[in-house]
Amino acid sequence: MNTESADLLLIKNCRLFDKECDILCSNGYIREMSQGINAKGATIIDASGLYAAPGIVDMHVHLRDPGQTYKEDILTGCAAAAAGGVTSIAAMPNTVPVCDNPEIIEYVKEKSKSTGVHVYPIAAVTKGQNGQELCDFESLKNAGAVAFSDDGKPVENAGLMLEAMKRAHKAGSIVISHCEDSSLAGGIINEGEASKKLNVKGIPNSAEAVQAAREAILSLTSGLPVHIAHVSAAETVEVIREAKKRGAKITAETCPHYICLDESKTLTRDADFRMNPPLRTKKDVEAVIKGLRDGTIDVIATDHAPHTSFEKSDFENAPNGVVGLETSLAVCITYLVKPGILTLKELFEKMSVNPAKILGIKAGTLAIGAKADVVLFDPEEKFLVLPIKLHSKSHNTPFKGMTLYGRVKYTISDGKVIYKA
Ligand SMILES: [Zn+2]
Ligand SMILES: [Zn+2]
Repeated sequence: MNTESADLLLIKNCRLFDKECDILCSNGYIREMSQGINAKGATIIDASGLYAAPGIVDMHVHLRDPGQTYKEDILTGCAAAAAGGVTSIAAMPNTVPVCDNPEIIEYVKEKSKSTGVHVYPIAAVTKGQNGQELCDFESLKNAGAVAFSDDGKPVENAGLMLEAMKRAHKAGSIVISHCEDSSLAGGIINEGEASKKLNVKGIPNSAEAVQAAREAILSLTSGLPVHIAHVSAAETVEVIREAKKRGAKITAETCPHYICLDESKTLTRDADFRMNPPLRTKKDVEAVIKGLRDGTIDVIATDHAPHTSFEKSDFENAPNGVVGLETSLAVCITYLVKPGILTLKELFEKMSVNPAKILGIKAGTLAIGAKADVVLFDPEEKFLVLPIKLHSKSHNTPFKGMTLYGRVKYTISDGKVIYKA
């Protein structure tokens, strides 16, 4: 065995957006990027015909570990990430117990070490996500938390939210807001045609937009940053656009399902089309896409939320959420790049560059000296989404049966191949 070659990886003939090049990785970093690189003893990947991009940074993932490992665990969640070209994930804290103390952060970091995927824990805003008492942000940040969120639940109290933004900022971090005004929400799908037809309680756009407006005003008046999770409604896009125009330090994400699916899917009474916020109308889909295009929405993240088939078998009582790590790149290539809404370069700004910047982590760039986190993919190769083929423990994908463009061929993290198709 040649020990020297163990940490030298040479990617030959890949396409880096508009140019061909080779990428040489050594000791986990990118050492050289140019044409015709030769490196003695290097492991070689022939990437002819493949595109290279910075490994995806998915800033909104539910790994379900600790506590609900029958849905997913850190190892299967990271395997799903690797299969989707994702090299960094931020893990939401609504586990059992809630990630509101340094011990759980330590557990997540430790268990994810062997996976090759960089897992960055997000800590809760309030203890037990009970919406009452703020966590100790300083010690959580020191333990490795990259952001704070009570995701799954809103922070109801505006004063508490503002205090959280202050403390997060002081700790050098941000709050991610799951916008949902509980007094307006409480339904199971979008409030509209579908909820009328199915005679079930709906969740109106206002439930999301009202709280996004609150966060926008808190950000404007305090000068502090806030990040809006999973934008689904046209009014929320408007609120964020206006707040940015006025100088608020507000950033926002949407998810692949909000750019290609609408409430009509729920008419099948299949709970794999139920998530929170819900699939909205075609008009909302158009507004979200417009928001991505004009820079109102900075990030595409999956809100990967695994649930078992058994849990998803009862349409009305099923928990909210869908898996997404393994299909996000392909959905975005199919629905954003193919129709000419975003270029591949712009797509990776939303999927890799911007989330890394917002979280303040070293990822999202393909440059000499940067971490060798790379996804190699074929944007022209089509595949059929088959739930059974997913690496995730749960198969609750709303993209099942769809034929998508954009197949991940290799995922490289720290200069090592962690997935090969
Ligand atoms: Zn949420
Ligand atoms: Zn979530």
